[in-house]
Amino acid sequence: MKKRLDLLCLGEALIDFVATDVGPLRRAPGFVKAAGGAPANVAVAAAKLGLRSGFMGAVGRDEFGYFLRDTLAAAGVDVRGLCLSEEGGTPLAFVSLRKDAQRDFLFYWTDTADQRIDVRDLPVSLARSSRAFHYGSISLIHPAMRKATQECLRAAKRARDVFISCDPNVRLGLWPAAKQARKTILDAIAPAHLVKINDDELGFLVGRRSLSAGMRALTEYTDAGILVTLGGRGAAYRWKGSEGVVPGFRVASIDSTGAGDGFVAGFLARMLASAGDPMKLREAPPDLEEWIRYANAVGALATTKRGAIPSFPSGKAVAKTLRTLRSRGGLKKAGILLSSP
Ligand code: ADP
Repeated sequence: MKKRLDLLCLGEALIDFVATDVGPLRRAPGFVKAAGGAPANVAVAAAKLGLRSGFMGAVGRDEFGYFLRDTLAAAGVDVRGLCLSEEGGTPLAFVSLRKDAQRDFLFYWTDTADQRIDVRDLPVSLARSSRAFHYGSISLIHPAMRKATQECLRAAKRARDVFISCDPNVRLGLWPAAKQARKTILDAIAPAHLVKINDDELGFLVGRRSLSAGMRALTEYTDAGILVTLGGRGAAYRWKGSEGVVPGFRVASIDSTGAGDGFVAGFLARMLASAGDPMKLREAPPDLEEWIRYANAVGALATTKRGAIPSFPSGKAVAKTLRTLRSRGGLKKAGILLSSP
């Protein structure tokens, strides 16, 4: 029998066609294909850090689907939960990095395998037999994957010993309406034990206010520990009434793709390695800031190479960073104001 997975990630796997030059998509001279999708990235980042991670989702039984399966498997991810479906193709995204460091996205994501999957084709039982289950919000947009997400969540919750982690990863362009996105995401974080979110997304969910007030506002929707990533500045947390900011690392960043996915994988890896039973952790664990520092190091290293998957560090590289690099100092959470659209 296979050993219990440390982490099962559910959601989208897709092909990112990344523009070869910086600039708006309309001027892109060409594209390079890369595996993408936040939950798939988290599974890879976690495997690189030594976790037994798995991915659950659906892609087409086509060349791009095979590429995704092979890329995940080559990174050490258990792909038993990845369905290569005859019904519908693999989702595609065209991405370019603009001069202002923002990203332009164009998605081809209609009638794809994930939107047509029958939940009976997914091994939902993996969600209750893993130590941790991680999901996002993109799998909640269309009914087919929404059903799969909800069934996995129910299975994980019923098992009682599965730590549930959510990174809403808001992509408003994929939702029919912002209002629906906000409501669905706020409902979706309710069962989680950990919510990782960035400061823009927090502003979108709870409105413009201070970071501290924003984190408090989010706790009206979930009992989860909350981690708010702040780009190069590091990350803030609110966990059962304790609050703080853990400064990030100074690195030569060239591409922030995958930083948030690396961060959450780093946090979960550290948490699962240090805590025998992660379910006992909800009472502000004493090592929380050390785990966030580790997650910051993984996120920082993920920005030092282009792309997501090629940039995720090994546990050794993270350990070296923690030994040799200094954190940014003097960050005051009170001065951080959330943005909202
Ligand atoms: P997301 O991708 O979810 O928006 P962020 O961009 O906030 O997430 O990045 C996640 C984490 O990665 C941050 O909390 C930080 O630890 C690290 N990170 C991101 N950008 C940088 C950077 N430029 N320098 C150092 N660390 C970074």
